[in-house]
Amino acid sequence: MSNDDLFTRAKLSIPGGVNSPVRAFGSVGGTPRFLVKASGAMVTDADGTEYVDLVGSWGPAILGHAHRDVVRAVQDAAARGLSFGASTPAETELAELVKERVSALGVSPIEKLRLVSTGTEATMTAIRLARGFTGRDLLVKFAGHYHGHSDGLLAEAGSGLATLAMPASAGVPAAIAAQTLVLPYNDLDALRAVFAERGDQIAAVITEAAAANMGVLAPDRGFNAALHELAHEHGALVILDEVLTGFRVSSSGYWGLSLADGPLYTPDLFTFGKVIGGGMPLAALGGRADIMDYLAPQGPVYQAGTLSGNPVAVAAGLATLERATPAVYERLDEASAVLSEAVSDALSREGVAHVVQRAGNLFSFVFAEERPRNYAEAQAQESWRYAPFFHAMLHGGVSLPPSVFEAWFVSAAHDERILSRIIEALPAAARAAASA
Ligand code: PMP
Repeated sequence: MSNDDLFTRAKLSIPGGVNSPVRAFGSVGGTPRFLVKASGAMVTDADGTEYVDLVGSWGPAILGHAHRDVVRAVQDAAARGLSFGASTPAETELAELVKERVSALGVSPIEKLRLVSTGTEATMTAIRLARGFTGRDLLVKFAGHYHGHSDGLLAEAGSGLATLAMPASAGVPAAIAAQTLVLPYNDLDALRAVFAERGDQIAAVITEAAAANMGVLAPDRGFNAALHELAHEHGALVILDEVLTGFRVSSSGYWGLSLADGPLYTPDLFTFGKVIGGGMPLAALGGRADIMDYLAPQGPVYQAGTLSGNPVAVAAGLATLERATPAVYERLDEASAVLSEAVSDALSREGVAHVVQRAGNLFSFVFAEERPRNYAEAQAQESWRYAPFFHAMLHGGVSLPPSVFEAWFVSAAHDERILSRIIEALPAAARAAASA
């Protein structure tokens, strides 16, 4: 069956024909590709067409798709049993590995870790934990940040809501939405004002370590540190959401990277997803032991999961993290630098106003003259230029994220040959963007 036929058929049985909204090509138009195979930097669709992939399963595929060792680890684990509903030795190994990796400048902020299945669960649980620990209800989040789809987090969220221009989701009770205070990103004055007014009711500030769900939009230098200082002064916790950045931009995430050239700050809780599961459903929350011990069975905050710490997923995560070596991060940094520069050159040649947005090896492009610092500014770009750019790249054999509000993901399999294939497709795409 062709992509077109598959999409028509899917729409009869699956809402919108997709199981996650951004896959539907909503903002770029056209028929989404139904993928049947992925290997290294390449994906193959149902029509048998191969594309260089810059989606990378939205982050997990850091080593490239279907890395041989990871697949073997998954096969071995599966052969020993798909799920036990009991503890396994590998879960502790993974927790120890995360603790060891997330340390920088002599600080090791993860003392305990709990495994869950999705990033949504990780942030949802971290927030409940922060509320249980502090005895407070309010949560502060930033406009354009995406932390999964639990009720309290869908106000002015990025990712699919940015793509579909949805300010919030229907189905969230007003009383729940009222517990979330949404502030503009990179705005310390707004944060100071909200703490001055309601500081004793705020349980936590949740922030993407570097925003990457309204396109990539890194925090201003020192913003994360100042945010921590302010929250801690008022007895609130900070949840650093590294679901997307964790183990991707460095072995200790964006937190480790930002400490290299900025002031020290210590999050109370971290959330992880994507790379930690190497492509299988696995995510985690971790942090200070006194806070983490508030989780059941030790503490009063309840959280559970039939498939939490699933042995096949843990095997994929362990195999991936063990192979995410310094050489892999060097490769990702290099690929990201070469590629972002090539795209920028191609757009400049056609006179298309744009800014390259970076957070470590994550990058995306904004069709604007100036670097946006928050969601409102990111939304004000000439976003209509992205659809023709995207389709010209797809026509040229390159699969980009189907939204201007998403990061581009390279992997260790994006070698010189693969990069050349992408670069070849750029002139036509830049011309398409220019004439939009
Ligand atoms: N937090 C961030 C920063 C994310 O990017 C995402 C997913 N893109 C999530 C949380 C939610 O993760 P999941 O899709 O696994 O629920």
